[in-house]
Amino acid sequence: MQIRRLRLSGFKSFVEPATLTIEPGLTGVVGPNGCGKSNLLEAIRWVMGENSPRSMRSGGMEDVIFAGTASRPPRDFAEVSLQAEADDGSDFEVMRRIERGAGSAYRVNGKDVRAKDVALTFADAATGAHSPALVSQGKIAQVIAAKPAERRMMLEEAAGIAGLHVRRRDAESK
Ligand code: ATP
Ligand code: MG
Repeated sequence: MQIRRLRLSGFKSFVEPATLTIEPGLTGVVGPNGCGKSNLLEAIRWVMGENSPRSMRSGGMEDVIFAGTASRPPRDFAEVSLQAEADDGSDFEVMRRIERGAGSAYRVNGKDVRAKDVALTFADAATGAHSPALVSQGKIAQVIAAKPAERRMMLEEAAGIAGLHVRRRDAESK
């Protein structure tokens, strides 16, 4: 899977709608401390289904919504859309939106889907919110300090078999 474009609106520090086009090859994001570089990575994680406030560096899931500054009022919703090219060459777009007091909703190619469908979309691509390809600031130290069971989970994700667990949990819940 190749991420082609990321759109953010009201997500963390990205209060105004912003579009990032990602060309093939290496993309670097540079900027001063606090300008939003890590927020971009978190947006990718979030649209792929991340639901742990801790890994979004927030207290609750609604904290991803722009909270306002001295000169700007807070927003009521946050929206992130990720357009990507699948391994078979087809394009797809995943969108997630969260509204204050109303929770979050997903769309794939413009159609409402369940969170589970989004998790399955990414589970087999070794991508997804918990992909080892997304390495947050401070994560390396965490890998070194991890307990064996946690490290095993990281290795399973890296090996691309974590998707099997998602499917098993799905099957067991039926
Ligand atoms: P560093 O170089 O220090 O790693 P960075 O470029 O990664 O910095 P981020 O951590 O992505 O910066 O951005 C932090 C900024 O995002 C802070 O200024 C913080 O106030 C802002 N921010 C985070 N969440 C929100 C929110 N919900 N509403 C408004 N601003 C937010
Ligand atoms: Mg950072």
